[in-house]
Amino acid sequence: MKKTEMRLQDAAIRQTNFKEVSLGYTKEEAIREATRCLNCKNPMCIKGCPVNIMIPKFIECIKNGNMEEAIKIINESSSLPAVCGRVCPQEKQCEKYCVKGFKGDAIAIGALERFCADWAIENNYESKVNIIDNNKRIAIIGSGPSGLSCAYELRMLGYDVTIYEALHKAGGVLTYGIPEFRLPKSIVQKEIEEIQNIGVKIITNVVVGKSISIDELKEKYDAIYLATGAGLPKLMDIKNINANGVYSANEILTRVNLMGAYKKESKTPIKIPKQVYVIGGGNVAFDAARVMKRLGSSVTIMYHRSEVELPARRDEIKHALEENINMEFLKNPKEILVDDDYSVKGLKYVNMVLLDEIDSSNRRCVKETDSYDTVECDMIILAIGTNINDLAFKDSMIKTTDRGLIQVEGTHTSDESVFAGGDNTTGAATVILACGAGVRAAKEIDEYLGGKNEK
Ligand code: FAD
Ligand code: SF4
Ligand code: SF4
Repeated sequence: MKKTEMRLQDAAIRQTNFKEVSLGYTKEEAIREATRCLNCKNPMCIKGCPVNIMIPKFIECIKNGNMEEAIKIINESSSLPAVCGRVCPQEKQCEKYCVKGFKGDAIAIGALERFCADWAIENNYESKVNIIDNNKRIAIIGSGPSGLSCAYELRMLGYDVTIYEALHKAGGVLTYGIPEFRLPKSIVQKEIEEIQNIGVKIITNVVVGKSISIDELKEKYDAIYLATGAGLPKLMDIKNINANGVYSANEILTRVNLMGAYKKESKTPIKIPKQVYVIGGGNVAFDAARVMKRLGSSVTIMYHRSEVELPARRDEIKHALEENINMEFLKNPKEILVDDDYSVKGLKYVNMVLLDEIDSSNRRCVKETDSYDTVECDMIILAIGTNINDLAFKDSMIKTTDRGLIQVEGTHTSDESVFAGGDNTTGAATVILACGAGVRAAKEIDEYLGGKNEK
């Protein structure tokens, strides 16, 4: 039996709206897909999941039509299943290890997880928790998946947890980065509400390092978890990089997702360009490109390697192609061309050539040629990676690595009462790895404070 494909919004229609592209399984489709699972005695799939969800167990419950038990099992390991079921790169994680995938299609684990989480939301399912307060206080800095997962686990262990968030809405990249059509904000807010419902406090509009220092927090709390992510965009060192019309992908996505710039009534609308060039080839580049397409621009992604090396998820690439986004490979920007008023009018680039040599990321190296060309455009979006922002801890004794990431052993930093995890220790990675770090931090904080990890 082949994998049960998920229904999608039609490509011609979806490129004009911000509604979710993937429509999810019906109950019948979920049961059909669950029936393919072999319920393996030694389930390799679990090893591929950074938070070790008991995958065969919850799939077995779906097979039997017992959705309540299925979501209960998922919640034992994950507080963000509707999010992870949607955006996890499952093909590189749980599904990569599924035995069914060795000779055919792996079980659609992510889609089944999403089905259960959506079922719980639609049916107002509330998990029953029994929390015994231990009167110890923890501050978490950052409300992305890492901070939220750590908060959930610590609260379940009885801690009094407060999250401090710099932005006016919680969720980190889930809220300001990943677009509505891949991850509806109502779903993110619902999962955050569930975490608040068990007693986690979230205080927004507090920039730690400015509004309050880490030393002040240390006086009030027994331990601190730094979950500040890696949200500082990298720019390119090329002529006219400050021209009007050059944006980082993070800025465009924040304006659209967080500030609602795609809505007609938005107070912070974006001037819609005719032709946009997005520089980069990762998920962030594809998200920015698909957002601009929906706003009505013609969009081209320019990537300095070839199509094979594109780091974005295959599904995202396929969806973008279906949505008429153009792609140009083996080209690298050299100069931004500007009008008299210093606004973008084009891009000069150098053509690249592929070499046989393989680099440390296991991809073919590229080299610049001496052939240059130009293209016309009125907006350029840079999606070439991010660094961490050290504002929260730069005046503290917390050490960083040569790459500027927070130095950790497990999740312990160089300050014994401060822990860290997620993108700020790994560089830009994935939602579920950030969740995994949050769960691990909760365990290590509990051990540091004399607990035995007993929920
Ligand atoms: P973040 O999500 O970055 O959260 C950090 C939070 O800390 C933010 O809310 C920030 O405002 C807050 N903060 C920072 N400094 C301070 C301070 N001084 N005081 C108070 N608060 C502070 N991963 C996937 O798995 N699948 C995808 O499809 C995917 N798509 C992506 C698309 C985009 C556009 C982007 C940008 C990333 C994507 N990722 C994806 C990566 C994933 O979102 C990140 O790896 C993940 O969010 C990291 O989680 P985090 O909790 O470490 O950090
Ligand atoms: Fe797979 Fe992600 Fe779900 Fe884990 S959380 S089972 S990796 S989809
Ligand atoms: Fe089911 Fe695949 Fe996991 Fe086996 S490895 S239990 S078939 S999901």
